[in-house]
Amino acid sequence: MIAMEKLSGRIRKISGSQTMAMNQKSRDLQSQGKDIINLSVGEPDFHTPPHVKDAAKKAIDDNFSFYSPVGGYSDLKEAISQKLLRENNLHYSTENIIVSNGAKHSIANALMVLVDEGDEVIVPAPYWVSYVELAKLAGGTNVIIQSGIGSGFKVTPEQIEEAITPKTKVLLLCSPGNPTGSVYTKDELSDIAQVLTRYPNVFIISDEIYEHINYLGQHNSIADFDELRDRVVVVNGVSKAYAMTGWRIGYMAASTWIVKACSKLQGHFTSGPSSIAQKASVAALNGDNSYTEKMREAFLRRRNLVIERAGNIPGMVLSKPDGAFYIFPDISSYVGLAHEGKVIKDDTDFCLFLLEQAHVAAVPGEAFGAPNHIRISYATSDSKLDEAFDRIEKALKKLS
Ligand code: PMP
Ligand code: GLU
Repeated sequence: MIAMEKLSGRIRKISGSQTMAMNQKSRDLQSQGKDIINLSVGEPDFHTPPHVKDAAKKAIDDNFSFYSPVGGYSDLKEAISQKLLRENNLHYSTENIIVSNGAKHSIANALMVLVDEGDEVIVPAPYWVSYVELAKLAGGTNVIIQSGIGSGFKVTPEQIEEAITPKTKVLLLCSPGNPTGSVYTKDELSDIAQVLTRYPNVFIISDEIYEHINYLGQHNSIADFDELRDRVVVVNGVSKAYAMTGWRIGYMAASTWIVKACSKLQGHFTSGPSSIAQKASVAALNGDNSYTEKMREAFLRRRNLVIERAGNIPGMVLSKPDGAFYIFPDISSYVGLAHEGKVIKDDTDFCLFLLEQAHVAAVPGEAFGAPNHIRISYATSDSKLDEAFDRIEKALKKLS
């Protein structure tokens, strides 16, 4: 048996990904024959578009089987550069772009090359689970700023300014956001940009992976503000927009010195991402967006469905998300209730209760820095969602 204390301090100081853990738990139960509705992990339930699959098959036949350049093929970087111009009006040349093994890897790269031991990383909560662990891995200290249902789960420029110290290196922004679905408007980003302009040593990692799952319309990026441009690291990828979570392609657009540093790191850690998946991603980015739009419409319909169903459950308090595919209800009113002598002490107990009694998997809010909440992903079929809420309603009636 390997003793925990033999492991490096580096790995011991971080926790595992609870989104991934809950997904695995659901899979294990499903493979034991249990009828679990998995609303834990956030990934589109749609299949990758046919023209993207065809491009991957062609890449195999054309023998794209060798190492790719560390930072990605030039045609993919060109497609990303054109996408950023076409869809976001952002001018980035291919030298400003590096392709990685998913947006998660891009974020990890950015933190590893920017953050030094003792640097502070500002993370608005509720936050996506991996930000704080990756920041710790890079040696950073997380400075969490809170937001709640009252502010639509968005932080204010004043909160950001209060959190900035001489040690602040990075601010992490995620819009549309995971786990809350909050979307910062152009005006809100402009107010945040005004504050950040006064702090030239602070870098901004802008996670825009849910760009296309936005029910307000046009996506806005903090990179749009010229005065910040050199300090913004835009992170995006193909996972959510093109239903390609398993293909593992993400990218970053940033100043060339940041991109070069990430390339140096990536050259040792992973080399270039999968050659086949890169060729598929070229087809995704250069192809038409009607498939993405169809998915967005389905997510909007499901958002309305789950808001109505969760809203009708007594004691579940929630806000209406403007993007991504999650709801993030406050379940505090259930804490302290019990079933067959088992007391629900917190959101983790609440999720375990749902798993055992309703066979529905969700993720405890504590994983996202927001205890007494749970995250429910609605990236699954309307009928499964209806069934899940029938089960949740029935199970919660057992609590007293
Ligand atoms: N950022 C956020 C906010 C996410 O929800 C995800 C999905 N897990 C990622 C980044 C990573 O996406 P990818 O699949 O491209 O690594
Ligand atoms: N975006 C998904 C989630 O948050 C994927 C899981 C992960 O990468 O953490 O559930």
